[in-house]
Amino acid sequence: MTWNLITSLKKSVEKYPNRNVISFAGKDITYSELNKQVDCVAFNLAANGINKGDKVALILGNCPEFVISYYGILRAGAVVIPINPIYTKDEISYILSNSEAKAVIANFELEAIIDSLKMECKQIEILYYVGSNKAEFNWEQLIEFRLKDYEYPLITEEDLAVILYTSGTTGKPKGAMLSHRNMASNAESIVKLVEFQKEDRILAVLPMFHIFCLSVCINAPIMSGANIVIAQKFIPNEIIHTIFNEKVSLFVGVPTMYSFLFQLKDYTAEHFKTIRACLSGGAPLPDELIQRFEEKYQVTILEGFGCTETAPATAFNPINGKRKRGSVGINIPNVYNMIVDPNGDELPRGEVGELIVKGPNVMLGYLGMPEATSFAIKNGWFHTGDLAKMDEDGYIFIVDRMKDLIIVGGYNVYPREVEEVLYQHPAVVEAAVIGITDPVFGEQVKAFVVCNDESVSAAELIQFCSVKLAKYKAPRAIEIISELPKNSTGKILRRAIRESVEMHAKSN
Ligand code: AMP
Repeated sequence: MTWNLITSLKKSVEKYPNRNVISFAGKDITYSELNKQVDCVAFNLAANGINKGDKVALILGNCPEFVISYYGILRAGAVVIPINPIYTKDEISYILSNSEAKAVIANFELEAIIDSLKMECKQIEILYYVGSNKAEFNWEQLIEFRLKDYEYPLITEEDLAVILYTSGTTGKPKGAMLSHRNMASNAESIVKLVEFQKEDRILAVLPMFHIFCLSVCINAPIMSGANIVIAQKFIPNEIIHTIFNEKVSLFVGVPTMYSFLFQLKDYTAEHFKTIRACLSGGAPLPDELIQRFEEKYQVTILEGFGCTETAPATAFNPINGKRKRGSVGINIPNVYNMIVDPNGDELPRGEVGELIVKGPNVMLGYLGMPEATSFAIKNGWFHTGDLAKMDEDGYIFIVDRMKDLIIVGGYNVYPREVEEVLYQHPAVVEAAVIGITDPVFGEQVKAFVVCNDESVSAAELIQFCSVKLAKYKAPRAIEIISELPKNSTGKILRRAIRESVEMHAKSN
């Protein structure tokens, strides 16, 4: 078996030339049309000096051009560097320099920023702006059909496909290098576990520059001959209309998306009638939310676990009725998850330890960072930095991030456990729990919550938690705020909350 993103695209093109692969803004693109444009992008990149192994940055929002460029870059044997288009000039500059990107395909709105970076990033040879008719090179030139001899490079499964920058807790972002084998094996596993069919219509509303969307909403559907329905932005009521009007069969989201969709008043199970499964990952999905969402919309949410470094999924709940609520599921095909103690020894079932992962999805390493790579991958096992336990049936339950553990007077408090209790309160929409310094106990539990009812007080929430949690776990302080800090995929950032609390403490 070989895992190769281009081979899998070509197979679907051969099998389903006339089926639609992309639907966006009322327009459809078939597999054969996609194939033609992908070949043109590869040809034109090569004609402008992009060779096998060169890096090409892709700085676009969700749109068909993203998918076409992504496969086009891969078809040219080059490596895709997806970048969040709302990044600042400094953030973009760092990634372009660090990855040594030779070409950039970007939205025309970024023209001024990227043009001004040409001095700092001297290795950039060519810039394409999508949506511009002024630029030297624009989208039309990239997909221009030119009848010339060109031998497409041979791609092997070991070849680098994508470098994704992850922002760790300290230092500069690290470029996780993912090969064709990493990406294609993971997409294939998702296809099997979720039983993707060519008739499926998958909503791609997660940001395309993120591994979750790349694998589950782009690679997996294309591998199965399915149809990607692209949504540019997550606007909750519009998303429900898209699901209904476009007859979406698979919804893929992060927990905050489920929370927003649940809050909407005017929608019912009728709007979700074409959905055969909802998939969640990227952050913990509160149990209360799963129950309420499933009851309201009459759908099943399958939760999985993943990291950028594992392309991304390592575990998933299967679709065939064997889902366990609250669990992120079982090993995906060919991948092993193990729970270990601090010495790296496997722990018995039911005990909490670090989750480590081995399989064809584990990244090649961090670009130019051998030390960080050997810290993260030991004997082929990727260390996730997450605490988890596994039950007798092999189902994995994520406990929390190791770094987020709070220690109150010597007792461990997992913030997630406290958050789960807060979510049980009907007024709580979002919750994040952190440890704050305490002169007596070392740390104390503090919660930040967003509520949908102004009459609810912090004192009431503290009381609510105190009857459900042991004394040392219950929050001593709760702050009700209007919004919690989140990253581009909607993951709540406890670290950002901790930093702002620390800054506040220093300035007082
Ligand atoms: P990233 O590399 O940015 O995708 O983040 C990976 C991290 O997200 C993991 O190490 C976990 O901490 C977290 N994560 C992903 N999926 C889940 C999940 N289903 N439940 C809890 N945490 C998750």
